[in-house]
Amino acid sequence: MEISSLTAEFVRAPVEAAYLKHKQDQTQSLLSFTLTFCALFYLGFFVTDLAALGWGVETRAILAARLLVAATAGVFAWLAYRRLLSVHFTRVAATMAESVAMVCFMFIAVTRPAEFHWHAMSLAIMLVVIYLYIPNRLRYALALASVATVVFVALADLHSQMSFADTLTMGMLLVLVNTFGFLAARRFNHVSREEFRSWSVLKHAAERDHLTGCFNRRYLHEQLMGGRWVGSSARPDSLTVLLCDIDHFKNINDTHGHDYGDVVLRAFAQILQGAVRSEVDSVVRYGGEEFLIVLPGTSLAGGIALAERLRTCFGATELAAQDGSVRLRATASFGVATVDLGAATGEDPLRQLIAAADELMYEAKRNGRDRVEHLQLAAIPQNLRCSA
Ligand code: GH3
Ligand code: MG
Ligand code: MG
Repeated sequence: MEISSLTAEFVRAPVEAAYLKHKQDQTQSLLSFTLTFCALFYLGFFVTDLAALGWGVETRAILAARLLVAATAGVFAWLAYRRLLSVHFTRVAATMAESVAMVCFMFIAVTRPAEFHWHAMSLAIMLVVIYLYIPNRLRYALALASVATVVFVALADLHSQMSFADTLTMGMLLVLVNTFGFLAARRFNHVSREEFRSWSVLKHAAERDHLTGCFNRRYLHEQLMGGRWVGSSARPDSLTVLLCDIDHFKNINDTHGHDYGDVVLRAFAQILQGAVRSEVDSVVRYGGEEFLIVLPGTSLAGGIALAERLRTCFGATELAAQDGSVRLRATASFGVATVDLGAATGEDPLRQLIAAADELMYEAKRNGRDRVEHLQLAAIPQNLRCSA
């Protein structure tokens, strides 16, 4: 999770995308808050312009420009407030609001050429807002702020009555604002991504099993049980649970050592994780060599097919020790239980399905191991209780 020191973004695009997705709610909140203030300030300037200049023909354009900025910022603030913007459109909204504000600002500056000193002060504040307060990609903020600064200094040179020395000093001050604005924004972006990196490491450590990378029991209890397995998606028609356990694993450990046992565990977990849908299914290390797979929206037929595929694949995989000294094949037993959620009774179908799958897995052991036992529960019997 390397962060580029130049762009202050994660070097790997998927990590950057995950970061932006994680921050999106906060980003929209910040955009909404800042643009609301921008809109209010421009409305305030509309009122002060009206008071100072009156409702003349030549001031109407200035007043219209003020209103245009206030309206643009207001609309995007509202869209962000209602959380209607995607990551991409948050940036589009930020860039558009900034561009409209800058174009209108330049227009107002040219229309009032005697006040370029004040305009320079306003521009400095706007640059700080662009760099630090309106959430946008750092390179977009830099491009917009630099172009605005160059255009403004050129307009001051052409239209104002400032001396060349004054224009030069003003230009240097604006370059200074750009430099420190950029550096502060880059640091802020960097720190925010470092924070995300630490959060990801802690989250991974808290919810994953160190040996296999599968989810741990804490994740099962805190994120899946109590109906939380549904997540934000609509409740599916059915829920399938698959419980599997490596056969005679103690023998493997006792004969070839604990390290080789770990190799077998990792290989088994890798097969399980590689076969399920990411973001939908969850593979949990339920016990030592016992794994649980939660499959929302999967029918019994789908669960059996998956279990058979996993059983065959694991049975056919040659499990080689790191130094190549041992090469074995092992087998596993599976219990698959499904419930039709429409007919499910009881508080938590997952808790009860685990109990059913556990029972089925032991039945597979009793029936000779290396096999799949399954059961469709039309309605979950109330007497089934899970030991989880
Ligand atoms: P069965 O076919 O009935 O499942 O028999 P089994 O030998 O697989 O089952 P048993 O429950 O007797 O043995 C499980 C073993 O798993 C015992 C324990 O030492 C081992 N084990 C648990 N966690 C780990 C681990 O992290 N690494 C290794 N190498 N072994 C582990
Ligand atoms: Mg076992
Ligand atoms: Mg076991």
